[in-house]
Amino acid sequence: MASKTKYIFITGGVTSSLGKGIIASSLGKLLQSRGLSVTIQKFDPYLNIDPGTLNPYEHGECYVTEDGAETDLDLGHYERFLNVETSQSNNITTGRIYNNVITKERKGEFLGKTVQVIPHITDEIKSNFYKLGQDGKYDVVITEIGGCVGDIESLPFIEAVRQARWDLGPGNFLVVHLTLIPFLKAAKELKTKPTQHSVKQLLEAGIQPDILVCRTEHPLPADVKRKLALFCNVQLDSVIEAMDAESIYDVPLLMKKEKLDERVLSKLNLKSKSKLDLKEWKGFLGRLKNPTAEVNIGLIGKYVSLPDAYKSIIESFIHASAAAECKVNLVLLSSEEINNGNYSSKLKSLDGIVVAPGFGERGFEGKITTVKYARENQIPFFGICLGMQVAVIEFARNVLKLDQANSTEMDPSTPHPVIALMEEQKKIDQMGGTMRLGSYACDLKKGSKSALAYGKTKIQERHRHRYEFNNDYLEQVESQGMVATGKNPKTGLVEIIELKNHPWFVGVQFHPEYKSTVLKPQPLFVEFIQAALNKKNNK
Ligand code: GLN
Repeated sequence: MASKTKYIFITGGVTSSLGKGIIASSLGKLLQSRGLSVTIQKFDPYLNIDPGTLNPYEHGECYVTEDGAETDLDLGHYERFLNVETSQSNNITTGRIYNNVITKERKGEFLGKTVQVIPHITDEIKSNFYKLGQDGKYDVVITEIGGCVGDIESLPFIEAVRQARWDLGPGNFLVVHLTLIPFLKAAKELKTKPTQHSVKQLLEAGIQPDILVCRTEHPLPADVKRKLALFCNVQLDSVIEAMDAESIYDVPLLMKKEKLDERVLSKLNLKSKSKLDLKEWKGFLGRLKNPTAEVNIGLIGKYVSLPDAYKSIIESFIHASAAAECKVNLVLLSSEEINNGNYSSKLKSLDGIVVAPGFGERGFEGKITTVKYARENQIPFFGICLGMQVAVIEFARNVLKLDQANSTEMDPSTPHPVIALMEEQKKIDQMGGTMRLGSYACDLKKGSKSALAYGKTKIQERHRHRYEFNNDYLEQVESQGMVATGKNPKTGLVEIIELKNHPWFVGVQFHPEYKSTVLKPQPLFVEFIQAALNKKNNK
């Protein structure tokens, strides 16, 4: 297979959570800034078909692509760094690979052969490795292999990477191994042994890494680099130091300083298509690090003990805060700990309140109390997905006086189902991939806060939910001052609600956070920060 597209595989060693996704994204950004077209994909070794059914406590946020794939949160980083959309093809799990192979087996496609891990599973993995590179759209496809080298469950992926070298041919294939160089305080020494071991494991699997990226809390002295090069069988200039960074968005610049991109280009015989241009990226970092104002924003949800559960929202605030040149102190508050007795002390220092997406009843009443406080005290409010639904329920209960108003998710027999399941959702009995997922159109009301923020009246945003605003209550709700300012043009589903007599109260049924990128901050987040700042200054 002669390949025009170059393939870079990123493996991880020593421990998980070293930030393969950020290194992949940073390398992708540098190559893209040299005029090359790049995409990044992730192969995850677990058996779920996709992360859609995983509890956020297990795996952090589930990221949703334009085409409605429920994916690993690293895809969020890929989009935020590269500003290029990903799709279902960018995230493949062992579960999906096996599912594909077993489906083919049941159809008789293997013509009586014994179906085996090698070659059938590895062939399926490889055909998925190469899928995005097939139509020549990308100069470079970066593939992140989830988990750690040596994990039993990632063995078939590692074996497929070994085989890929020979499919693709020399010069078209590269392995970057991300590893950890721990610092032993007592010995005051950086230790290379864990890295030597993890590279040895790769070598046992038949893979020679071309470049080592070494996470470290201290700069790597020349002798440590030399030792790593010698024992791990890589060129000295291919031992790249990756110091802990203040912000993940500094990492592309750190990698540029370490010449990671130059090493990659030379090993792949690849030429830049333009001069390296990071002007916009540096502009963003400059604004991010030199704010002219500051606000406190509360993010109220039930998964707050694991901030990764709200990754895209947290990153959206970073992008928007740079655009607004206003530092955002994001305070994560557990809705389970907010009640009618303590809400004022918990919420009073906030200039703006976000009620987060979520599922199920736990912490729900604390969210209602929070929304009531924001509505009555004119605190800028931003409700996202479940947060929007809570705003509608709070309004129905406390303004329309429908005491028992609820979502049928929380109370299936509520007399006032202001949020309810759509007809087509009622028939569904499978959990995975069956929500209202991916991008849908939304028409905005002229003059609304949303239309002002977006600067247009036709938008597309991504969804991930089952329940909807119940249009039977629309007239009643609107007559009291809560207005549907965004609707799906085809179905009439309410996508945005706003309060008339409030400085900034916006609830969105979609997830605006999935589309925020460094170079394209999401307008609702920017306007919400501005509203919080106005509130603070008028205090
Ligand atoms: N649980 C709600 C629903 O399914 C909201 C989902 C969400 O916040 N993503 O409709």
